[in-house]
Amino acid sequence: MVITRIAPSPTGSLHIGTLRTALFSYAWAKKNKGKFLLRIEDTDQSRLVPGTEEEIEEMLKIYGLDYDEKSKQTERKDIYKKYAEELIQLGQAYYCFASKEEIQEAREIAERSGEQFRFRSPYRDFDLDKAKEKIESGEPFVIRLKVAEGEEFEFEDLLQGKMHFKSEEVDDTVLLKSDGLPTYHLAVVIDDHLMGITHVMRGVDWVPSIPKHVLIHRAFNWEMPKYLHLPLVLDPEGGKLSKRKGTVAAKDFLIQGYLPEAILNFLMLLGWSSPIKHEFGEKEREIFSLEEFIELFELKDLNKSSAVFNREKLLWFSHQYMMNFSIDELHKRYGEWHAKYSEEKQLRLKIAEKGDKYLKEVLELVHDRVRLLSEIDELIRIFYFEPEKIKFNEFKQIKNLSDEQVSVILKSVVNELEKKSENLDDWPHEKWEEFMRNLAEENGLGAGKVFMTLRLAITSSPATPPLYEIMTILGKSEILTRLSKYVDNI
Ligand code: GLU
Repeated sequence: MVITRIAPSPTGSLHIGTLRTALFSYAWAKKNKGKFLLRIEDTDQSRLVPGTEEEIEEMLKIYGLDYDEKSKQTERKDIYKKYAEELIQLGQAYYCFASKEEIQEAREIAERSGEQFRFRSPYRDFDLDKAKEKIESGEPFVIRLKVAEGEEFEFEDLLQGKMHFKSEEVDDTVLLKSDGLPTYHLAVVIDDHLMGITHVMRGVDWVPSIPKHVLIHRAFNWEMPKYLHLPLVLDPEGGKLSKRKGTVAAKDFLIQGYLPEAILNFLMLLGWSSPIKHEFGEKEREIFSLEEFIELFELKDLNKSSAVFNREKLLWFSHQYMMNFSIDELHKRYGEWHAKYSEEKQLRLKIAEKGDKYLKEVLELVHDRVRLLSEIDELIRIFYFEPEKIKFNEFKQIKNLSDEQVSVILKSVVNELEKKSENLDDWPHEKWEEFMRNLAEENGLGAGKVFMTLRLAITSSPATPPLYEIMTILGKSEILTRLSKYVDNI
């Protein structure tokens, strides 16, 4: 059975690059009817950030990458100790009592002679009984791997290809620290083995650790899982994707209003090429659901070269998904986003006051323009709040209309509306259009100018959704309220 895992350390928010690794690992497991595991690698206690373990779990859930089992390394502490001691029995590891100063001195000697420093402790061949006495007397110790001399190794990564290294290049790596906790290197090897991991996917930045992992597996005489070290995700400006240049945390993208399924789709194409053939000139397919991706996903289609995190493209994906939503879906997703992340408290109250039916009508109008859920707050504002008064002569769209003419237009709209006894709530946009065209004609003005004047008066903005639809939604009394502030005072 294929078993994959994601093994984040809870030292900060889940990075979008780690989410991509999780996506590929998840897809490979699910494709093969296998399992995808979450393992929290928390043995470096000094780097833990409270709350991030919960955040990792929450993110995997929201992004739809549900794990089959979860484990946490600090809860498995005794296991690592037992295995480290087993390596001592096997002669593959040793208790080391070297002090920091001794190690530093050895480093300086090596550096002075221009050699690469690889630590070989004076305790490599220390008598085991004597070592145990020292431990009993309370001396601090670590357990180190006893790297054999003069051996050469070959390792094959399914993505990166073959690599060669010599045992001289590897430190007598610490396996168990003086606090009794394992190092990452020991814990990762033991856990991958005990959990039956068949494929390890992780970032290419872990390649330097391969020699250690090969040697630890070998010390136990364990077969290694298959490895795929995934290429880096680069910032379009160059270098690794980093916080300084923009959002990198899976959670922050959600706060910004991106749709998780759009992000996931975008991540699929960061390092994977779809096998779907396309004719010359035909557009390559880019939209895939998670199910489709799982169906198509093969390890051979993973790329070795780095992927660029194009934020414009991500926005494009988000827009595509948003446009495909029904109004009910958009309404639901916006409601969830708004309740969780929006800081527009006043708007929230107004939305509640006006009700769901009104909000859905409004959403229908702005739907096409929405790329991020967060943009909706801004796009729908004009339907809930009377905008600030404007100066008409500042708008180039109506620059050849005098204040006088603006006033005439607005006054006639007000007069005409007031003449009508019904409240016009059920006037469809065609009616409003007809009303406005007649008005322009009666005043001998171009329809375009009249429409723009009214648009500005009602919304304070020259670029809005279609005017008549806005009028239908706002209704007669709200339109009159908005116009009244201009009637004697342009
Ligand atoms: N704990 C490592 C990390 O935080 C996991 C590396 C691995 O997958 O082996 O990325």
